[in-house]
Amino acid sequence: MAEIPSANGLLNLLWLQSGGCGGCSLSLLGAESPDLLTSLEAAGIRLLWHPSLSEASGQEFRALLERLKSGDQKLDILCVEGSAVTGPDGSGRFHMMAGSDQPMMRWIEDLAAVAGQVFAVGSCAAYGGITAAGSNPSEARGLQFDGDRRGGLLGADFSGRSGAPVINIAGCPVHPNWVTESLMQSASGELTEDQLDDLGRPRSYADHLVHHGCPRNEFYEFKASAEKPSDLGCMMEHMGCLGTQAHGDCNTRLWNGEGSCLRGGFACINCTAPGFEEPGHAFHQTPKIAGIPVGLPTDMPKAWFVALASLSKAATPKRLRENAVSDHIKVAPRSREPGDT
Ligand code: SF4
Ligand code: SF4
Repeated sequence: MAEIPSANGLLNLLWLQSGGCGGCSLSLLGAESPDLLTSLEAAGIRLLWHPSLSEASGQEFRALLERLKSGDQKLDILCVEGSAVTGPDGSGRFHMMAGSDQPMMRWIEDLAAVAGQVFAVGSCAAYGGITAAGSNPSEARGLQFDGDRRGGLLGADFSGRSGAPVINIAGCPVHPNWVTESLMQSASGELTEDQLDDLGRPRSYADHLVHHGCPRNEFYEFKASAEKPSDLGCMMEHMGCLGTQAHGDCNTRLWNGEGSCLRGGFACINCTAPGFEEPGHAFHQTPKIAGIPVGLPTDMPKAWFVALASLSKAATPKRLRENAVSDHIKVAPRSREPGDT
């Protein structure tokens, strides 16, 4: 059969869900300014199928997959949400594609082989994520990474027809606009390998730290720290916050227009990084050695941090010291008065 060209020059996108919770799709549906469908239209992308948005199922759906796999219909963008389930013993039979005699991992391999660009949406698809935690009985893997090691289901050397490796839009769940922006970049041919960081994440969001724009920055500067949930202070010293090391623009590109983990009172657990799911300690506690947090801010030598922290603590204004351990503002900023130096 002759190849069915993309309709009206649109790019064909297929979305598959594998070993995950569906949370990234749920997050994606909350995309705003613009919303998902407007973003796809603006980028010239036609959504061929998505498990939550499409009516086709059963034979109709499988026929679509067969056309894409054989090349009869062009596949420009393949998005996979959730890890590749490869157990037991590498067979993939823990996750069969309903109605087919093939494991989902084989469909992913076959479709990735013909796709222009492959997106791993969310940290499970990128690195294994939550589904690979613990003893990983389902043998969950990322598409091109196993944790922080290149490899994964498709192998370290895989690249799509465009020449780029798998694009890891990591996050748990993913920020909706990280997806829509990356798809737009892809459609315009701008999402090349040099636009990805060492872990395959689009630099458009991964070149930022969560710490940037955090409303608790003033507390951080003076090491005025929260000591319990709901305290207003910085959560790095005691409450497990990894915002100074986590790659993401969560505090400058707000979620659903107004939120972020930090703004909701939760420490950043670095969900855009491989291995975040198993920090080796409670998520809401900061591990320390001799009273010094083990995970120091990115780029900061330990000696500097210790020196700066003790200087900052010595200079902490009463306002910040008291507000840091309160769930509301106890001491308001004072206006300068004539004669103040
Ligand atoms: S709470 Fe976390 S992200 Fe916010 S200022 Fe402190 S370390 Fe930075
Ligand atoms: S603030 Fe941290 S834990 Fe929350 S979504 Fe961003 S990277 Fe993930």
